[in-house]
Amino acid sequence: MLLVCSSRCGGRLFRALFAEVEIDSGGVYQDHRFTQPGYVCLNCGSPAVDLGEVPAEMEAEARADEAATEAATDILCPVCETMVHVGADMECPNCGSPLEVA
Ligand SMILES: [Zn+2]
Ligand SMILES: [Zn+2]
Repeated sequence: MLLVCSSRCGGRLFRALFAEVEIDSGGVYQDHRFTQPGYVCLNCGSPAVDLGEVPAEMEAEARADEAATEAATDILCPVCETMVHVGADMECPNCGSPLEVA
């Protein structure tokens, strides 16, 4: 987590908006929402953004996309000779034959 003021005023103190943070009866952090800024800069009152969280989420998504692309490949069905784009599903959509990636 790396909070910065969205107005770049240089303020280093931030306040978590209570309504945005959900905790259980023991005070354990449960969840937060992004419908409104979760933190405000105590110096100028602007919403603060978390530079530590957003890029990590985007990176995880990019990695998931990459993995999906690598797993998929085009092979020719040996039975009906349909070109099949195979991902996790290893069956010809045309004739239902099981397919093997060479
Ligand atoms: Zn500020
Ligand atoms: Zn087939």
